[in-house]
Amino acid sequence: MFEKPVPLPTEDSAPFWKACREHELRMQRCNDCGHVRFPPSVLCPKCTSLEATWDKLSGRGEVFTFIIVHQTYHPAFDEDMPYNVALVRLEEGPTFHSNIVECRNEELYCGMPVEVVFEDRTEEISLPKFRPRSH
Ligand SMILES: [Zn+2]
Repeated sequence: MFEKPVPLPTEDSAPFWKACREHELRMQRCNDCGHVRFPPSVLCPKCTSLEATWDKLSGRGEVFTFIIVHQTYHPAFDEDMPYNVALVRLEEGPTFHSNIVECRNEELYCGMPVEVVFEDRTEEISLPKFRPRSH
């Protein structure tokens, strides 16, 4: 029996994963230009400011693009085959790689409105996933 790998938080990403554990999607918003960024970083990529706040996001977005995985890359994912990997564009701007859940792969489309849900994986890690939303 293989365990699925889980992310290992870094110093920069620890606040993101702590918020996920509380079922909140938070990303850094630049205090100077307002740009919301992901992945976490020390500097704002737009204006190089060091000042940022971990803002709670709406958790809403849409499927920007996706793939359906048909080949095993890790034995722990065998039971999920075939599974989707989607790039979600969040309302606040950043894109985020995840899976679309509560939806058949055949029903996925680019532009599909989605909202975040959290999958508790370990004591420290809850994974943000997305499900279709009606509005
Ligand atoms: Zn900035």
